[in-house]
Amino acid sequence: MTGSLTRIVSWGHELLAEVVCPGDLAVDLTAGNGHDTLFLARLVAASGQVVAFDVQATALENTCRRLQEAGCQPRLHTGAEAPLTRQAGIDLVAAGHERLAEYLPAAPRAVVANLGYLPGGDPRLITRSESTLPALDQASRLLAAGGRLAVAVYLGHPGGQEEGDAVCRFFAELDEGIFQVLQMKVMNRPQAPFLVVAERTAGKV
Ligand code: SAH
Repeated sequence: MTGSLTRIVSWGHELLAEVVCPGDLAVDLTAGNGHDTLFLARLVAASGQVVAFDVQATALENTCRRLQEAGCQPRLHTGAEAPLTRQAGIDLVAAGHERLAEYLPAAPRAVVANLGYLPGGDPRLITRSESTLPALDQASRLLAAGGRLAVAVYLGHPGGQEEGDAVCRFFAELDEGIFQVLQMKVMNRPQAPFLVVAERTAGKV
């Protein structure tokens, strides 16, 4: 693990790396600047598949560039291409993550979301609970047994606290017979970003 103790994004990566193997299917609900998409692409390796969503052109461009600089050639989907085919490679989807279930070709082993606004992008274009919650609900239902869903939650911007509260309620209500749920937060910085990770331990939701 690199970085300081409180870098929750690194902890999220660490916890996803424990369960993802080459060949797996993984999902990035918020491509943003592409850091998580590239991280997942490396975990699933050349035989695996990553599906990444974003609604902002700048985010998809930044993600595409980051992947290309790393030697990957993502497939870009801007039209009605749902559902995607289960095949090795990276699919960048220009659609809201609330449409996850329509697009996914199989059960993912990992799902990641980095909420809030795009650093360097439009700060008014934030993730909102109206779409975040349907996406998390679909992700939890679709997740493969043993798979993990990791969400980094940001509170410091307008609307962040409301979304954070809704995300916490969602995870707190997941059936304990089917999911283990962990929250990591910086106890002496209440406004700091925090991480929630759910593992699907068994069964159908
Ligand atoms: N706060 C993080 C980065 C978050 S990026 C950090 O500081 O590192 C969040 C991304 O979610 C943005 O690129 C934004 O365009 C995207 N987004 C917002 N609503 C979305 C939706 N409904 N579906 C998919 N992506 C969405």
